[in-house]
Amino acid sequence: MCDIIWCKKEVGGKPCDTINYLDPYCFWNWEGKINCAECGTVYYIHMIQGFMYKGPEEKPGEKPDTSPLYADKPYDGYSNYRPGVEGRTRPFQCIPRAKLLGVADKVKFSIRGRPVRGWRPQPPSAGLAGSFGFNWDIQKLSPEVWEEYQKKLAAGEVKDW
Ligand SMILES: [Zn+2]
Repeated sequence: MCDIIWCKKEVGGKPCDTINYLDPYCFWNWEGKINCAECGTVYYIHMIQGFMYKGPEEKPGEKPDTSPLYADKPYDGYSNYRPGVEGRTRPFQCIPRAKLLGVADKVKFSIRGRPVRGWRPQPPSAGLAGSFGFNWDIQKLSPEVWEEYQKKLAAGEVKDW
């Protein structure tokens, strides 16, 4: 969590007392307006590296850019707003950051030089998961890996630890 906005707005003679959580991926470096999940008060905030640089300042009559992901009311038992309550909280869309959308590093051999099971391709007879359980015939399944393995064995590149 970067920070929270503890809304103290008077609503119907009582403070709103709702905690709006600013989740880190969305608000870490962010400037804009966000609504309180309970009373709808719009707050302007400017966060830099997870630090509240400006705000929260009330912006009456303005439209929020986004909503908190989650909010709760600590003085009111466990009542809360979970993600995706229309007009109050944002839906959780589970979108990873761009830099995490990488390509997997595929390896044929472990750090000790032994072949690893995950190497593809496996024949269709391997079934849905393609794992061959306890019966992994590497010579038949991946002859090219087997050949490379024999060369590694001969070169003394295979270790037990
Ligand atoms: Zn409020």
